[in-house]
Amino acid sequence: MPLCPLRQVLDEARKGAYGVGAYNVNNMEQIQAIMQAARDTASPLIIQASRGALEYTNFTYLKHLMMAAVEDNPDLPIVLHLDHGPNLDLCKKAIAIGFTSVMIDGSIDYDVTTAAGKHPARSLEDNIRVSKEVVDYAHARGVSVEGELGTLGGIEEDTKTDKVLLTEPDEVEQFCAETGVDALALAIGTSHGAYKFKTEPVLALELITECRKRAPDTAFVMHGSSSVPKELVDEVNKYGGNMPGAMGVPIPAIQEGIKRGIQKINVDTDGRLVVTAAIRKVFVEKPEVFDPRKYLGPGRAALAELIASKMRDFGTAGHAADYQPKTLDEMKAFYAGQG
Ligand SMILES: [Zn+2]
Repeated sequence: MPLCPLRQVLDEARKGAYGVGAYNVNNMEQIQAIMQAARDTASPLIIQASRGALEYTNFTYLKHLMMAAVEDNPDLPIVLHLDHGPNLDLCKKAIAIGFTSVMIDGSIDYDVTTAAGKHPARSLEDNIRVSKEVVDYAHARGVSVEGELGTLGGIEEDTKTDKVLLTEPDEVEQFCAETGVDALALAIGTSHGAYKFKTEPVLALELITECRKRAPDTAFVMHGSSSVPKELVDEVNKYGGNMPGAMGVPIPAIQEGIKRGIQKINVDTDGRLVVTAAIRKVFVEKPEVFDPRKYLGPGRAALAELIASKMRDFGTAGHAADYQPKTLDEMKAFYAGQG
């Protein structure tokens, strides 16, 4: 089975009224765990890598790990997606190594850093311009594109945003019509990282409903959608961690988001947490252990279980055999017919 375009996976998810998780990876154990979860639950899946992950793995290593996942799982629809592409250059690089989908995050100007070490938000016009450039390049090769409107709070990799701006439905209509993106990340109050809320989660879920009306043909994406379960944070802290007050997006809020029109759900922090908890536990309970397999292995097993539960919660489970992946050539013809 060839790799799957993001567009197809999200179109299928809309038809079936379920969500598909996009899981960040940067090493072998994470990739194996996510594939295990997809096999166990018969789920289509999106593996995504950020610029930081690609740099950490020198591109080549991550590329081959991802390809190994595909070779090892010929019966699963798998999307390889670039998370938060900062510019056309990196999108091109990702497409060159075989990614079937890229995100261009045109909401922030990554090429400019302020005195405070932050990246400024871009104007709507500038965002449309850089996003459209990527859409033209990617669609000509059959590759799907995700854009972003509004800014998400929190810290992702080395990216610190100035301020949080919720997505404006009027802008969604214009952005989707003018860029032709396949998917759009909405800013509805989620943020990246483990500390999303101070007291209780507040999300502008009604924004999704409004945006859905304005852009009926575009898939919507929720970033920063880890749940940061209290049991996991407690486990990290119990074994010597220090994460006071970490809080995420509860699963029922994500399920409500899916009902209102979200198809792609980005999850990174929860995976980091579960692996950290498992490794800390081994270090505390078995201080004699020094074989990395003896602590990375339990981390991998715990991650597989966590991702499988998300695949069930998002409604992805059981949909792996619903369709045959389209080739990038077929997608190329599809986009050419649209234009
Ligand atoms: Zn994100």
